[in-house]
Amino acid sequence: MTVVQYGMNTPPCPQCDSVSTVKNGFIHTGKQRYLCRTCHRQFVLNPARAPILQDTQDQVEKLLSWAKRHPVGPARSSNGSPCGGFAVC
Ligand SMILES: [Zn+2]
Repeated sequence: MTVVQYGMNTPPCPQCDSVSTVKNGFIHTGKQRYLCRTCHRQFVLNPARAPILQDTQDQVEKLLSWAKRHPVGPARSSNGSPCGGFAVC
């Protein structure tokens, strides 16, 4: 038995707040995608990629690249080891 239901198991549209949303397949990460029947916007709940994450990623990259150029080892790093004193290299 197939019954089309609106506003039962689907979230409201983030753009126009309409509850006339329907399931509309899945995105590549396997998350449920919805379609708003009022404004025809497609949306996904809690999208995996938030814009702020890119900034964080840049910060991490910057720190890593700095750390590579300025290796900070233990105090005995001047023992002539090519690894700069790190136990693992
Ligand atoms: Zn909408």
